[in-house]
Amino acid sequence: MDAHQESLENPFNMDEDCRNCPALCETRESVVHGYGDVGGEFVFVGEMPSEGADAAGVPFVGDADGERLQRMLGELGFSRSPPDALEPELQNCVLTYLSRCRHPDRDPTAEELANCEPYLNAELRMINPEIIVPIGQRALEALAIEYTTRAPESFDVEAEHATTVRGRGFELLPMLELDRQTDADSEAWVDHVRENVFGRDYRQTKGRRSR
Ligand code: SF4
Repeated sequence: MDAHQESLENPFNMDEDCRNCPALCETRESVVHGYGDVGGEFVFVGEMPSEGADAAGVPFVGDADGERLQRMLGELGFSRSPPDALEPELQNCVLTYLSRCRHPDRDPTAEELANCEPYLNAELRMINPEIIVPIGQRALEALAIEYTTRAPESFDVEAEHATTVRGRGFELLPMLELDRQTDADSEAWVDHVRENVFGRDYRQTKGRRSR
């Protein structure tokens, strides 16, 4: 955690009463902005808060999908908390979403994602990570548009799961949607990071401030 950071939750004090998407304002419990260590080298980006995250106001907690990711973060040394913690103690990573508000019955529309994009762009600009982890097809396509030279439709998250995609300024480590992962899928992703990312100097992708 950055020495000057006061809170892991919404560290950039983004608007927690954002009303840019009228339909989502009616259905959400929380506006779930980024959470974690703003000096981190890894940013994990999902499509939208799960039910547990919406209730807790913290990304990727409060249900089985969140626990799956938190367990993986623990195995990689990013979390010191048990997988069911609602306010996990994270280091070297930030968790966030394309859309910070949840509709229980549908995915966010293209317009809602466009409304929310400035929050993600601001977080990425301020964190300046080395590695971005798109979780799920929609996050992968959205980040591919910004940070790779490949056409977004050429990406299939199932095929790209547990691989490294070199991009402009960042490397992407795509991950299958958490509710589609088997334990073997999760293990393969963790192993990929251990063997192919931690095993080399991934910081060479760009000049980086000292931590
Ligand atoms: S999804 Fe994003 S832009 Fe839309 S209301 Fe929520 S925080 Fe605001």
